[in-house]
Amino acid sequence: LASREAHPESSVIDVSGVKIGGGNLGMIAGPCSVEDRDRMFRIAESVCESGANIFRGGAYKPRTSPYAFQGLGEAGLKLLREVGDKFGIPVVTEITDPRNVELVAEYADMLQVGARNMQNFVLLTEVGKTQRPVLLKRGMSATIADLLMSAEYVLSQGNPDVVLCERGIKSFDPSTRNLFDVAAVPVVQGLTHLPIIVDPSHATGRPDLIPACSLAGLAAGADGVHIEVHDCPEEAKSDGPQALLPEQYKDIAHRMQLMADLL
Ligand code: PEP
Ligand code: MN
Repeated sequence: LASREAHPESSVIDVSGVKIGGGNLGMIAGPCSVEDRDRMFRIAESVCESGANIFRGGAYKPRTSPYAFQGLGEAGLKLLREVGDKFGIPVVTEITDPRNVELVAEYADMLQVGARNMQNFVLLTEVGKTQRPVLLKRGMSATIADLLMSAEYVLSQGNPDVVLCERGIKSFDPSTRNLFDVAAVPVVQGLTHLPIIVDPSHATGRPDLIPACSLAGLAAGADGVHIEVHDCPEEAKSDGPQALLPEQYKDIAHRMQLMADLL
């Protein structure tokens, strides 16, 4: 179902009115975790002004340590929904547990399956039964063929709306958090009609590299860019060190728009 051979035309995924694919860019921005209310409204106002068209924030966080902040749960979902409604922007949030699919789908416009769950086949099957578009991130040790098979799990349940995301893969080099596989973009586009966006935040883990990698992703043909933004990275509950400040996001969003106009 995912293959380009079977469906030569590029799919356009509609996320509550925002289109991704076929020349439409998904500009996803927001903090790693949903945090306190004022902060969420502040960040959302700024990224919306800068041109983001989907707001993100994790209410259920897949953390390496069980003692690290795990997310606000349902309270976070409610807050995210409120922000989305206030600014008229669709929201995407991660789903980590098949038992929460209905709950998360009630609040979010798009369901994110994170890198760590790319091959959680029970979860993929459950999100495949919903009507919500899915943002499926490439596992950090997954091949492109693996990613496409995971998409197949969702599609085969009757949900045709999958957006893929290249977010970096494991490498031997600690210079960056992961290795940004920019070539994955045209490789994936050759193999599937589904859109693919890039996530330079998780791919590099370094704010200084996000602008270059965002533009590189677009130059490679990506259907969108996912960037984490926080107004006070030192206070962030997760992924602070890789967050862009709102004004930095504004700058790169402007440059991405200029590049998109050229392409
Ligand atoms: C995230 O989006 O905050 C996240 C945990 O991403 P990934 O699954 O790509 O690590
Ligand atoms: Mn994150």
